[in-house]
Amino acid sequence: MSETAVKQGHPKGLWVLFGTEMWERFNFYGMRALLTLFLVNSLMMKEADASLIYGGFLGLCYLTPLLGGFIADRFFGNRNCIMLGGMMMAVGQLLLFASASVFSTNLSLATTLMWSALGIIIFGNGFFKPNISSMVGSLYPKQEKTKLDTAFTIFYMGINIGAFLGQFICPFVGDVKDSGGIRDIHAFKWGFLAAALAMLIGTAVFYFLKNKYVVTPEGKPIGGMPSGHETGDYEEGESQKAHFTPMSLGLAVLAFLGLFAAFHFLTEGDNVVKTIIYPIIYASGITLAGLILSDKTLTKIETQRIWVIYIVSFFVIFFWAAFEQAGSSLTFIADNQTDRNFFGWNMPPSMVQIFNGLFVVMFAVPFSMLWDKLRANNSEPTSPFKQAMGLMLIAISYFIIAHNVKDLGNNGLLAIYWLILLYLIQTFGELCLSPIGLSLVGKLAPKRFASLAYGVFFISNAAGYALSGTLGSILPATGDKFKKAEELGINLQDVLDKKIVPTEAQLKLLSDNQISAENPVFAGFEIHNLYEFFMVFVVLCGIASIILFLITPILKKMMHGVK
Ligand code: GLN
Repeated sequence: MSETAVKQGHPKGLWVLFGTEMWERFNFYGMRALLTLFLVNSLMMKEADASLIYGGFLGLCYLTPLLGGFIADRFFGNRNCIMLGGMMMAVGQLLLFASASVFSTNLSLATTLMWSALGIIIFGNGFFKPNISSMVGSLYPKQEKTKLDTAFTIFYMGINIGAFLGQFICPFVGDVKDSGGIRDIHAFKWGFLAAALAMLIGTAVFYFLKNKYVVTPEGKPIGGMPSGHETGDYEEGESQKAHFTPMSLGLAVLAFLGLFAAFHFLTEGDNVVKTIIYPIIYASGITLAGLILSDKTLTKIETQRIWVIYIVSFFVIFFWAAFEQAGSSLTFIADNQTDRNFFGWNMPPSMVQIFNGLFVVMFAVPFSMLWDKLRANNSEPTSPFKQAMGLMLIAISYFIIAHNVKDLGNNGLLAIYWLILLYLIQTFGELCLSPIGLSLVGKLAPKRFASLAYGVFFISNAAGYALSGTLGSILPATGDKFKKAEELGINLQDVLDKKIVPTEAQLKLLSDNQISAENPVFAGFEIHNLYEFFMVFVVLCGIASIILFLITPILKKMMHGVK
């Protein structure tokens, strides 16, 4: 490519990465849309357990990028890791296809296949995700780094066009109900197969086009095997990599084990995702954060900036915990207590979350133009302020929906338009918080700690997803459960209100139909209905937002001039 072409536009490689990531996100979000419904309807799990698995799965998908990034940097290079991750995810989707094909004849085999599939996808995602994002950055030579914000906005569009397509096609073929509203529980497999094909296309796009387009302006390949000597565009005199003493690494291992044990023993219940996986995620985040701070070479300013990353990371946990209800509790509500008539068409429940991707595609550019405009007037809010706005918006979205479900009772239906409004406001929140968070970490972290700081930031996303699982699992009984119980001759409301004590036989009947005989409890509060369920998110995100707003001036000082 000629010099001028590079200077004026974006390198063609960006479009290759855009296309690859688009297909990969198609595969990821398409599968995510179906996962919980598949677990409940085909693998006969309770909704609460499906939500916990979903949270644990997503959480681990954001923990493994640390490993994938490390392996790429030290051993395989970005390109190989992207190929490997893509192939692994395709295999994982094919295993889900197999699971969804055999469950009716062999439930235990189907369950084993499902666990293996999720495990492979988790590691595949870990190899793929950090490496494709870092390649976007590597496409731009040092003097072109000002284009990075736009490049990432374009890339974020690719992510969400993929999410949109996946959340359309996979539910379209995989989440099928007949005119009487009875679900075809054998259709999920087609959704997983579509996801597998998308991932194969993405991997092929990358494989065939990378050598021609994903290159430096001089035509040298980007993201090849690590050469052993640093070629990054770091500041003169600043070391590129962190070096920890064996002593501090040893202490970190001990801290991890201690924290893991603490979280493990503090968690109630016997669900392994909750008692093992979530503690691993929380303990890794805190340990890594501590490890960075233990470095003696950090100056006072660097330390303060790192603290800003940590504080922001802590607050975004609540955002993702609320946001990621999309594939669990909000999908269950769309399935069981929503009038999904969308301009005369009965939309599949797993497709309702498509509005997030759609709205990102519509509003990502207007939002970045808004920030540019405010910047030109010198009135652009600081990053922590935008994060607080994101949290406030998500609290508002749940507040609106909480008030709409207040009078629904056990069998009233929520109109789909309220869910669409919820996704619209949440998307505005996402656009305030998500792309900005990534660039904030890049600007605040000292270069030698950049990848590790990103690691902490990603783990905070992972922690948010783990929390989303816990929160999704406190969804109280929806309309379908009351109806089913009535068919079984049981007044579920009276059982939940403890007005009647069910017999052993009735308890078994309820449990066989995946209905809980008790209301869920969160932090000591019993959740009686959907209104109280949604208010949990309003309170958590609202309080987080207000505190973050209040400490913004302090954070601004601690950022020492970084905008
Ligand atoms: N939706 C975006 C993606 O899939 C961002 C998710 C996140 O940062 N947690 O990449």
